[in-house]
Amino acid sequence: MLRKERYDFILNHFRSALPNVTTELQFGSAFQLLVATLLSAQCTDKRINMVTPALFARYPDAQHMAQASEEDIYELISSVSYPNAKAKHLAEMSRQLVEMFGGEVPEAADDLEKLAGVGRKTANVIRAVWFGHATMAVDTHVYRVSHRMGLVPKTADTPRKVEDYLMKHIPAEDIPNAHHWILLHGRYICKSTKPLCDKCFFNEYCPKLLKDSKL
Ligand code: SF4
Repeated sequence: MLRKERYDFILNHFRSALPNVTTELQFGSAFQLLVATLLSAQCTDKRINMVTPALFARYPDAQHMAQASEEDIYELISSVSYPNAKAKHLAEMSRQLVEMFGGEVPEAADDLEKLAGVGRKTANVIRAVWFGHATMAVDTHVYRVSHRMGLVPKTADTPRKVEDYLMKHIPAEDIPNAHHWILLHGRYICKSTKPLCDKCFFNEYCPKLLKDSKL
């Protein structure tokens, strides 16, 4: 199957199976989406959604969280992965939002990436989910699945190269959904160590390039 045919086949399935997808994280504002996304690194959305209601009740916006110490925040997020580093980032990021952006989450990628703990992937999530930009956030799921399914060549060996390749080959109108499609497929079917190939819609056509893709 040519790569173009593979893209068409995969995207056609997702278009009909998951016409409306978005993040599984729960949030009520751009700030809360930013916090939840930052917390979700190396952790499950399910766990983050258990933690954020109490966190957002105490610190609903950047102004409130900017008053908190790392220890205050740590107490509320201790059950997520890397709580020390994330508490530090949240405290610093909130203060930066207040000092640099009047407490508002900026829209530009360059501005988002100035914030503590915010890299390109997180910035792309915020820009896509909150601001509606056609950006492709490449996390471990998207990176792994894109390689296994042959959506990207082996030479796309960094998240940025995978992002650029997907952006070039996925039609613009599908980009807002495509991140979620690939991510959810990786989270529930094409899992890291034990992909559920026998339950996968793509089984017959997937090249299963499993080597070096166990992220
Ligand atoms: S067939 Fe297996 S390797 Fe291919 S996408 Fe499905 S789960 Fe992943």
